[in-house]
Amino acid sequence: MLTLYSALLAIDNTFGTPVNQKPIHLGADIVVHSATKYLGGHSDITAGVVMGSKQHIGEIWAWRKNLGQMPAPETASILSRSIKSLVLRVKRQNESALRIATEIEKHPKIKRVLYPGLSSFAGHELAKKQMSGFGGMITIEVDGDYEQTIKVADNFKIFRIAPSLGSAESLCTQPVTTTHHGLTDEELQRRGITPSMIRLSVGFEDAEDLIADLEQALNII
Ligand SMILES: *Cc1c(COP(=O)(O)O)cnc(C)c1O
Repeated sequence: MLTLYSALLAIDNTFGTPVNQKPIHLGADIVVHSATKYLGGHSDITAGVVMGSKQHIGEIWAWRKNLGQMPAPETASILSRSIKSLVLRVKRQNESALRIATEIEKHPKIKRVLYPGLSSFAGHELAKKQMSGFGGMITIEVDGDYEQTIKVADNFKIFRIAPSLGSAESLCTQPVTTTHHGLTDEELQRRGITPSMIRLSVGFEDAEDLIADLEQALNII
């Protein structure tokens, strides 16, 4: 592809994190991160990162200079302090998410759990090859309709409803009402998004408490 079309491959590695997945080692030219998420890790900054060769970054640098996308000094300071604990945080989130995904997959009110670390996941073999950990993001599909799914999310005691991810607190969001809101039924279907899905971002809390939280909310429907 590269030699035929001189195309560059850019990867958004926000969900993977540099701890679990290194796209440049796998052949990507440019990697971007929302540093608002795992790199910042505490939901207290908005920032972004772009990485690549000196040549590519040189071109992007000129654009950034003209467009004025500079982080405030306080943001840069918070980010540089947060980065020091990135590996510790992500390893904990990997461990908790794998434990939660494995447990919650057995719940009778769960239709499906999407998590790269589960052997039931379609891309599991590929994920094993290119990731050293499977991250803190899980999608559950509730065995219920749109209304029942809202009821489950509303009844979480620990998972907080928020469209962000990668922070100290565990968060959840129903993609049809947030990240994929406004798409037609056809577009949702093409992307595999159903009204019964809840996306979970696993935080630093005890994994057993998070499993209990999911179970008590699912038991309501
Ligand atoms: C949040 C997010 C973005 C946008 O980043 P902001 O820092 O919120 O502007 C881009 N890509 C992914 C995968 C994200 O999760």
